[in-house]
Amino acid sequence: MPQRKKFLVFGSPIIEEAEIAEVVASLRSGWIGTGPKVHRFEEMFRTFNGSRYALALNSCTAALHLSMLALGIRPGDEVIVPAMTFAATANAVIHAGGRPVLADCRRETMNIDPQGIERKITKKTRAIIPVHFAGRPCEMDAICDIARRHNLDIVEDCAHAIEAEFKGKKVGRFGALGCYSFYVTKNIVTGEGGMVVTNRSEYADKIKVLALHGMSKDAWKRYSDEGFKHYQVVYAGFKYNMTDLQASLGIHQLPRIERYWCRREKIWRAYDDAFRELPVFLPAPVTSGMKHARHLYTLLLDTERLRISRDRFLERMTRENIGIGVHYIALHLHPYYRRTYGYKPGDFPNAKWISERTVSLPLSPKLSDEDVADVIAAVRGILS
Ligand SMILES: *Cc1c(COP(=O)(O)O)cnc(C)c1O
Repeated sequence: MPQRKKFLVFGSPIIEEAEIAEVVASLRSGWIGTGPKVHRFEEMFRTFNGSRYALALNSCTAALHLSMLALGIRPGDEVIVPAMTFAATANAVIHAGGRPVLADCRRETMNIDPQGIERKITKKTRAIIPVHFAGRPCEMDAICDIARRHNLDIVEDCAHAIEAEFKGKKVGRFGALGCYSFYVTKNIVTGEGGMVVTNRSEYADKIKVLALHGMSKDAWKRYSDEGFKHYQVVYAGFKYNMTDLQASLGIHQLPRIERYWCRREKIWRAYDDAFRELPVFLPAPVTSGMKHARHLYTLLLDTERLRISRDRFLERMTRENIGIGVHYIALHLHPYYRRTYGYKPGDFPNAKWISERTVSLPLSPKLSDEDVADVIAAVRGILS
């Protein structure tokens, strides 16, 4: 008999009545493209984050890509990216024409190792993309110091880390630009969606134009009641704008961000207490001045002390009707990056070590106490 009758979906978001009513209102209004709700969501996010500019896009991938273009990353440029991240972080560099140069992470925090960054710097290095992994802020003092000494830009990948703070300051505000995701499994959701923040008006202006075909005036102004306005195409731009249907979710999700975080924090503590005695490595504890965004609860299976492999553990959890994730198999182990850049499995020993042991447990604020108890019982049953 499985632990549960009904499958527990990994990373299932909470959608409340307010979002549903807001989407319906947008549909009835006929204004389903980029409109006033996108602007309201941008304004709300700007206030939440504290950056001067916040621009809503259709994904964090788009935010990362346009950040690279805003910085002027070109063919021949190198950008340092952690090996332990999602493909979008590196692909954004590639789509701008640059070369992603991978760097290893620390085993305990899973975040990029500042010393690893320093070793990868060449004459061609232009920027660093730290990823605040699982919601834990990177060592931004060390990374900012490296960037300053080598004259490099920083773009923060905050896909896991909307709420995260390093030494009391929100992540996403340390570098030139910060990129956020509202994908279905992230801490707040718009279905698909992203945001880029910056303090520099020239970056904000360029991203705004690039996000909508390279047109000098955005469409929602063109079709407003202010009268027709001609536009000029000033770049070969992209179609990366967020719509009011997506922003309808965001404007209600953002005010609940702390409530959702508190629920995940509580689940996190229950997991920590329940798994302390098992042959696993728990997520590293927070240090002073740090707010962890509690995005992914990653257990590292101590495979030397266990008879079960990681992949077998994944199968067993699925059989118990519990959805799990793997974040991530490091980039240098994937065929594209191996083939294109000649990476070998042993190049990033810590990222490889994590790739072989990591499992992410359900951490959605939607989980009931019973769901959490089921996850705990299943993990303990399989591992003890
Ligand atoms: C989810 C994610 C992205 C991409 O976000 P999208 O909004 O889906 O494009 C980028 N980086 C990391 C680390 C992510 O987890």
